[in-house]
Amino acid sequence: MWIGIDDTDSPAGMCTTYLGAVLVRRLAREGLRVVGTRLVRLNPNVIYKTRGNAAIAIEADGDPETGFALTTACVEELAEFDDKRTNPGVVVASARPPPDFYYAALRDYCTVDEAVAVLEAAGALYRGYKNRRGLIGATAAVASDFPDLTYELLAYRKRSAWGTPRRVDAASLFRAEEETYPHTWDTVDRENGVVVGVPHTPDPVLFGIRGESPAWVKEARSYVLSEETACEQVYVTNQGTDAHLIPGSAATLREGRSYLVRGTVAEAASTGPGGHVSFLLDDCGAVVRCMAYEPTKGFRRVVRALVPGDVVAAAGSYKGGSLNLEKLGVARLADAVLVRPPVCPACKKRMTSAGTDKGYKCRVCGERSREPETARIERHLEPGWYEVPPTARRHLARPLARGVAAWEEEVLHSDQECRPSSGMSNK
Ligand code: ATP
Repeated sequence: MWIGIDDTDSPAGMCTTYLGAVLVRRLAREGLRVVGTRLVRLNPNVIYKTRGNAAIAIEADGDPETGFALTTACVEELAEFDDKRTNPGVVVASARPPPDFYYAALRDYCTVDEAVAVLEAAGALYRGYKNRRGLIGATAAVASDFPDLTYELLAYRKRSAWGTPRRVDAASLFRAEEETYPHTWDTVDRENGVVVGVPHTPDPVLFGIRGESPAWVKEARSYVLSEETACEQVYVTNQGTDAHLIPGSAATLREGRSYLVRGTVAEAASTGPGGHVSFLLDDCGAVVRCMAYEPTKGFRRVVRALVPGDVVAAAGSYKGGSLNLEKLGVARLADAVLVRPPVCPACKKRMTSAGTDKGYKCRVCGERSREPETARIERHLEPGWYEVPPTARRHLARPLARGVAAWEEEVLHSDQECRPSSGMSNK
């Protein structure tokens, strides 16, 4: 059977992954063999999310009625029912629903009624609490399909420690990353000198380690020195896969979805209030503003180094009319040329404009010239991919430590300039 759970936490506490870890232990105690545990990230732009829009799926062998009774009891005991934004959903399906609902919840928006229709068609047991919104994530979790996947080891705090400052030795986290990168990533942000894998919220998570296999996340974990943990769970996840991205064109972007769009830099970057940097990307005449917010730190240097004519692919969510950058591919660099008035051959002073279409004139000796001086500007950027630092990375964003997906390279180097979309999909 496949068990799905979502929407059990609130900003004040709990975490659906913790509830999943508790349930895994209770299922085993009742003799139901747990075969798999999934941490499923869904559309990061959904406004109802508490933190990272995660849902949990557990694959287990045994009687679905027993699984359902254990899961609902666990949710009823642990979920943060008092918060009006917490609306838990529980699903137990003996046959997995088709993955379409998962892809819709990952890349688009779904309704509770759509989730219920999927559950009825699958003959699943389900229970939605309060406004039942959690059924969307719980259904998507059991329908999830991971053509690409990563792992996360989550360590949970003892109940007596919840809400108190976390005791995790930062140096040991840096050591864990040094010893295991690139097989694990985002435990710390070495460039900015900060810890990433330890949350600051009052939930039961002590720390998380992300990596390419259960063996690597456990290896990294072995370096971490911390307060005693209550339990630890390794989840299979769609984190770090770019599964949320849709190969898109600037003319058809829809609010709250995430895309990879190829185009030409139309206007160089400018820095706005708060240090946010943006540039205009032209995709066959449709222009979209691409934003690198202040928390993306050093990534903004890459954005500032772009000049009009550079051919790039921009990945990110389309929100408030702009694409919020997660990653940027540079396919071709334009020849950047500085055009300015020439130097007077007689007096060696720089001439000035003599007026519109009148060329240049030396203000000292009156010498005239029609041609400006042009010089190639040295570029401080190489073709390739660039990403935001770990501190600013979204859960679903694929770190360059994992390489770039084949479909992303295809988008970046596609020569289908300004022709209808090839129908390429991220699968
Ligand atoms: P938790 O640890 O409780 O899962 P979270 O940050 O993952 O915290 P939730 O509290 O689960 O966020 O809130 C997300 C809510 O949005 C859930 O009710 C979920 O069912 C719903 N949801 C998720 N994806 C979509 C979607 N694509 N369209 C509509 N609703 C969605």
